Amino acid sequence: MSTEGVIYRVAGPVVTATGISPKMYDVVHVGKEHLMGEVIKIVGDYSIIQVYEDTSGIKPGEPVTNTGLPLVAELGPGLLTSVYDGIQRPLPVLRDKMGDYIFRGVSAPGLDREKKWDFNPTVKKGDEVTAGQVIGTVKEGSTLHKIMAPPSLKKGKVDSISSGKFTVEDVIAKIDGQPVQMMQKWPVRIPRPVSEKYQPVIPLITGLRVLDTMFPLAKGGAAAIPGAFGTGKTVTQQSLAKYSDAEIVVYIGCGERGNEMTEVLTEFPELVDPKTGESLMNRTVLIANTSNMPVAAREASVYTGMTIAEYFRDMGYDVSLMADSTSRWAEAMREISSRLEEMPGEEGYPAYLAGRLSEFYERAARAKSLGGDAGSVSVIGAVSPPGGDLSEPVTQNTLRIVRVFWALDTKLRERRHFPTINWLTSYSMYDKQLSGWYKKNVAEDFPALRGWAMQILQKEAELQDVVQMVGSDSLPDEQKITLEVAKLIREIYLQQNAYHPVDAYCPIDRQYKMLSLIKKYSDLADKALAAGVQVDKIAYLPARQRFNQAKYEEKVDEELAAVDADFDSQFAGLGV
Ligand code: ADP
Ligand code: MG
Repeated sequence: MSTEGVIYRVAGPVVTATGISPKMYDVVHVGKEHLMGEVIKIVGDYSIIQVYEDTSGIKPGEPVTNTGLPLVAELGPGLLTSVYDGIQRPLPVLRDKMGDYIFRGVSAPGLDREKKWDFNPTVKKGDEVTAGQVIGTVKEGSTLHKIMAPPSLKKGKVDSISSGKFTVEDVIAKIDGQPVQMMQKWPVRIPRPVSEKYQPVIPLITGLRVLDTMFPLAKGGAAAIPGAFGTGKTVTQQSLAKYSDAEIVVYIGCGERGNEMTEVLTEFPELVDPKTGESLMNRTVLIANTSNMPVAAREASVYTGMTIAEYFRDMGYDVSLMADSTSRWAEAMREISSRLEEMPGEEGYPAYLAGRLSEFYERAARAKSLGGDAGSVSVIGAVSPPGGDLSEPVTQNTLRIVRVFWALDTKLRERRHFPTINWLTSYSMYDKQLSGWYKKNVAEDFPALRGWAMQILQKEAELQDVVQMVGSDSLPDEQKITLEVAKLIREIYLQQNAYHPVDAYCPIDRQYKMLSLIKKYSDLADKALAAGVQVDKIAYLPARQRFNQAKYEEKVDEELAAVDADFDSQFAGLGV
C-alpha cells in the first residue's frame, strides 16, 4: 500500500491527491511544507483532503504523505489552562515560534513534552486493572488529574508502576507487558467508550435564576442558545463557565466577528473562578478559531474539544462544553461541502448537516466510565442565526436534537431585560425528570412554585393583548394584581445582571427564597383584595421597593428576610 502520492488539484482548503491509498479520516501531510490535512472522501484513486492550514501557493505535483493514522487528541496532564487551535496546537507555543501570524507546516504537540508531573500511583504491582481504571493521580493546579489505563488495554496485571516526576511520554507503568505513559491519544471523531449511560436526573446548577428555575439543563444534557447578534450568547456562556457546578470547562470559540476571538483570548484568562478565587483558566481548556485560521480547522475544533471533555468526564468530573458559535462550525461544513461540489441542501448547507449536529450533541452524556467513575459532559451550543431568524437550517436542526432551548430575544434586549431569555418561547424537556432532584435538594414545593410562576407569566402575556387594546384601567382588580405579580417575577426574578458582584450568581436556595417571597406577596395581595383594599395600596406597598433592591445587597439573605417581615407588617397595616 502506497503512502506517498502527489497533489492533483487544489481548491481552497480542499486538496485532491492521487497515489496514496488512505482510509477515511487518515491524516496526511500535503505539499512541500507538510501542511496537515485529513482525508474526507475517497473516489477511486482520488483522495480528497481537507487541509487545516492555508493552501495558497500549494501546487499540483507537490508530494502528499499518508500517515495512516486518524486525527487524534493528546490527553494527559497539561490540558488545563491550555489554549489550542482547532487541531490542538497550543497557540502560545505557535506564537512563540512565529509571532502573531500562524505560519504553515508548523507542528507543535498538544501536550508539553518537557514538563514533569508528580505522578502518584493508586494501584500497585500485582493488582489487576481494566481499561479506563484509574492507576494514579497528578496534581494539576487544584484539579486532581486522574491517570487512567488506556481504553485499548484489556484486563491485565500491573507488572510495575513508579511514583515520582515524569513527562507525559515517560513510561510510568507496565501492565500486562505493555508500557503505559500518562498521555493517551484518542481519535477525535470517535466518542470515547463508557460502560453505562445514566438518565438525566441531576440539574447543572448555573446560578442563573431563569435557567435553574424555569428552563433547567440536566448534567449530561444538551442546550442550544440561539440569538441574534448582541443578545447575550457570549455573556451567558461565560456566566455558565464561571458559575455552573461543572468542575471542568471546555470552551470552543468560533468567532463571529474578526476581533471577537482576540477578545476571548484576552478576556478569558482574566476571568476569576468564584469558587477558588484563582484564574478560571485553571480548570479550563480553551479552543480558539480565529478568523484567519482555515475553515477545516474550525470543522475539526468541535471534535477536538468534545474529546477533551469526554476525557475529563471519564475521570468522574462534571464537564461543561460551550461552543460559541456552532453556526460558524456549520458554515465551515458548508464551505468544505461546496468545494467538494456536493449537492447542496437547504441554504447551501450539506445534506449531512443534521447528522453531524446530532452526532455532536449526542456525545453529551452523564455516564459511568470504563473505570467506574460517574461523570458528565453537558453541552451548551450557541447558535447565531443570520438576522435572528430561527427558521434557518442550523437552528432548526439543532432544535430537533437538543432538549433545552434558551431563546434570546432582541426585544428584551431593547428593553434592557437581561438575560434576554424569552420565558414564553424557551423550554426544557428535562423539567419533569429533574423535579425529583429539586424536591429533594431544594424544597418539596419547588416544582409547584415554578409551575405557578410560569402560569402567571402566561396569564400576563394573554392580558397584555387586552391591555394594548383597551388599557389596564379597564381590567378587573384581580387581573391588575396578576400583572403586578408578573412584574415582580420579571423584574426581580428573571432579570439578572451578569456583571453585578452579588447578583451575577444566585444560589439555588436563594432562588427558592426569592420565588417564595413573590408567591407570598401574591397570596397576601389576594387576601387584601378580598378584604376590600384598593389595588393601588397593594401595588405601592413600600416593601416592594426594598424587594427590588434586595438582590444587589451584600447581605442579600438578611435583606430578603427583612422584606419577608415587612410584607407581614405592611399587609397587616392594610388590615390583612
Ligand atoms: P452575542 O454573543 O449574542 O453577540 P454578547 O453576549 O456579546 O452578545 O452580549 C452583548 C451585550 O449585551 C454585552 O456586552 C452586555 O452589555 C449585554 N448583556 C448580555 N447579557 C447580559 C447580562 N446577563 N447582564 C448584563 N448585560 C448583558
Ligand atoms: Mg458572541
